[in-house]
Amino acid sequence: MKKGVIITIDGPSGAGKGTIARAVAKRLGYSYMDTGAMYRAIALLVHRDNVNIDDEKKLSRTLLETHISFKRDRNSNLRVLLNKEDVTEEIRRPEISKLSSDIATYKAIRGYLKKMQRRIARNGDIVTEGRDMGTYVFPDADFKFYVDASISERVRRRRLQLKEGGIRASLEEVKTDIKARDKQDKERKEAPLHPAPDAVIIDTTRLTVDEAVEKIMSVIMEE
Ligand code: C5P
Repeated sequence: MKKGVIITIDGPSGAGKGTIARAVAKRLGYSYMDTGAMYRAIALLVHRDNVNIDDEKKLSRTLLETHISFKRDRNSNLRVLLNKEDVTEEIRRPEISKLSSDIATYKAIRGYLKKMQRRIARNGDIVTEGRDMGTYVFPDADFKFYVDASISERVRRRRLQLKEGGIRASLEEVKTDIKARDKQDKERKEAPLHPAPDAVIIDTTRLTVDEAVEKIMSVIMEE
């Protein structure tokens, strides 16, 4: 395959994007970028410093002080670092999920992260995962996918994910959070979530992770 390839995977929360994107990256020997973790890291900083997100000056100062990076642990799992502190678990907390969707509506924050994401992906051979990868950040990507699943399946998966991270939440709580984030992410003015017109749509409701990965790999290998 040619060099410098960019593969984008977008979709709503709990559709399986992260697991699928990591597996595709591994199969191809590409790097992997979790852009949701970037929004979550900024949300954590805003939460900790009690930043009023309507105060643009304070927000810009917070962004200037933000350094997000990633590293791999012994088991090749991606760790998220915020100003060198490992915040991988903390950014998954439910209140940070909600706040990350709130701060993601801000143009200044999206612009800041878009630049960072393009810089990280400048050499290609990368799978990027998020809400606006194929539509706004990498409109010229080589392959675009939009991964979705039914709401009940997404709730089930997200709850399992939280449980694995030691967070207990009822089905109703998870459903309310996912629905609210879906709505806000799809209806916001800046880079709303929707499939790119040239994205391949994959419904993972009845697919295993391996089956979804195979579907994506077959599209890529067909080229
Ligand atoms: O994917 P994840 O659930 O970690 O993302 C958290 C939030 O960050 C999303 O609900 C969305 O509002 C925001 N986000 C975004 N654009 C991206 C990735 C995430 O707006 N590319």
